[in-house]
Amino acid sequence: MQSAQSISSLDVLNNVFGYSAFRGEQESIINQVISGLDALVLMPTGGGKSLCYQIPSIIRAGTGIVVSPLIALMHDQVTALRLQGVAVAFLNSSLSFQEVQEIEGQLMRGELDLLYVAPERLCQERTLNLLSQINVALFAIDEAHCVSQWGHDFRPEYIQLSILHEQFPQVPRIALTATADESTRREISLRLDLDSARLFISSFDRPNIRYRVRQKNNARAQLLQFINTEHPQDAGIVYCLSRKKVDDTAQWLEDQGIKALPYHAGLSSSVRQAHQERFLREEEVVIVATVAFGMGIDKPDVRYVAHMDLPKSLESYYQETGRAGRDGLPADAWMVYGLQDVIMLRQMLASSEAVEEIKRLEQRKLEAMLGFCEITSCRRKSLLGYFGEQQQAACGNCDNCLEPVESWEGTTEAQKALSCVFRTGQRFGVNYLIDVLRGKVTPRIEQFRHDQVSTFGIGEELSEVQWRSVFRQLMARGYLAVDMDGFGSLKLTEESRPVLRGEETIHFRKDVARTKKTGRRKKSGQPNRHFSAHSDEKIVWEALRSKRNELAHEQGVPAYIIFHDATLMEMVEFHPTTLHELGQISGVGAMKLEKYGDEFLAVLNQS
Ligand code: ADP
Ligand code: ZN
Repeated sequence: MQSAQSISSLDVLNNVFGYSAFRGEQESIINQVISGLDALVLMPTGGGKSLCYQIPSIIRAGTGIVVSPLIALMHDQVTALRLQGVAVAFLNSSLSFQEVQEIEGQLMRGELDLLYVAPERLCQERTLNLLSQINVALFAIDEAHCVSQWGHDFRPEYIQLSILHEQFPQVPRIALTATADESTRREISLRLDLDSARLFISSFDRPNIRYRVRQKNNARAQLLQFINTEHPQDAGIVYCLSRKKVDDTAQWLEDQGIKALPYHAGLSSSVRQAHQERFLREEEVVIVATVAFGMGIDKPDVRYVAHMDLPKSLESYYQETGRAGRDGLPADAWMVYGLQDVIMLRQMLASSEAVEEIKRLEQRKLEAMLGFCEITSCRRKSLLGYFGEQQQAACGNCDNCLEPVESWEGTTEAQKALSCVFRTGQRFGVNYLIDVLRGKVTPRIEQFRHDQVSTFGIGEELSEVQWRSVFRQLMARGYLAVDMDGFGSLKLTEESRPVLRGEETIHFRKDVARTKKTGRRKKSGQPNRHFSAHSDEKIVWEALRSKRNELAHEQGVPAYIIFHDATLMEMVEFHPTTLHELGQISGVGAMKLEKYGDEFLAVLNQS
């Protein structure tokens, strides 16, 4: 492919990848790199970053070198590209000496369009030496935010990648990441010496993802109901904060008949590997994980990401939820959140031993996360606004847009709650405070003589649940702080004074008690139930899926590597009957048409 100089990037997109048009900025990025210049690309997960270096590698003379941090995932990427007819290999520690020699031979003979390399491998003397003897088309640095020491994906090997520029000044470099914030971007620029690279920032909106935050009220049952009613046969990721909770939740889901597997750093690497593999290869697997899971997973048909605990920042939330719906089909970001989450995170912050500057930063991030949970207007607008992107209209695809939230004026209730904290000496937790407000006589209240304080029994107009909602919102908005004592005692803050003095009016969000049935999507997000139960379309869809599974099984690859759901759905919709028509379907490139065309046509023509 490399000799055909006149081949255009659009030709490659059409023929090799089977797509009809570039998305967003892909074309400008590709042109920039093809012309030999550097690029720094910020694009959300699922935006289509890979093509930005794959196409220039195919078109430019020589081999494109791709640095990617995750050895385990290189294999599937390479398999997928080979099925599309791209000459590609990877170099990492999983290969035998003989395999390495073979690949090095191909590299020296100029037979490869692309070579994937782990960063530590690339920076070895031997590899650099090898590269100096061949024609390098470009360097692509994927997951470039791994150079950031403040980020949670920091990889020390990434720092060394600046030598690429020193040793190969004439080779264009393209660094890519889905991490949007300004400080990470600056750090990438600095550490990788990309000051003069052209910056490409895409919109970070993921319109196909529906954002929902529910009040926590028996979280497991809520999760089960969500899965059963909306995603019974889909792949999904469930995030929990602790390893123990991951294990318990996975076991519990399993007991409820759901194919759920745990994943966290406490499991042996072989177990983790096996669970990840099953998630990628089988359909309908739910992975229950800590944040240790997810980077580099490019399974396109993850239909939902559920959070059982509050992430530490909106950056993490956005990155984690971004793993849903890479294929552009409808997907859900679903989270349950409650008073206990606020207490726990506030406590963690209070007892953090980080230096003051970092603590303040963590504090700001937590405030933003809590603000997002409590907001009553469009969640997408607020999320994108946080990343510096202004959207004019409400999105129509988040819970607040779909089921507008009512609010109520609660200045008096806020004052009662805050004075109760003050009158009891700022030494008690929420449950105790609510008992005092509601005038409950308990042995502890008698012991501390709090049945004598002025706030005893002044809050009977609200139920316990309603008071918990008031306390949660006061805490989330910073009117109350959690003490460092570890018992969840609440204290007043500077912000609470104007409220107590009657100088500030407070509005609370009215919590929706239960998931309203009416709020559910009519057509569910999953393509397999997009078609009504016994329709012809459904039958064709199932037949195509089973053909895909059969081929995937035969070849030992994940089903989506054969064809994505979106491609099968187009087949159902347009019902091609000839090879030529099949080739027009998005995602069917020349090589796959040749390889699988007849078999899929046979299925289509039978039905
Ligand atoms: P990222 O690495 O940015 O998360 P990928 O490169 O994995 O995203 O692309 C996400 C999905 O979008 C993939 O399934 C890919 O095949 C598809 N895709 C990328 N570019 C296009 C395009 N121009 N037209 C159609 N599909 C595309
Ligand atoms: Zn919205």
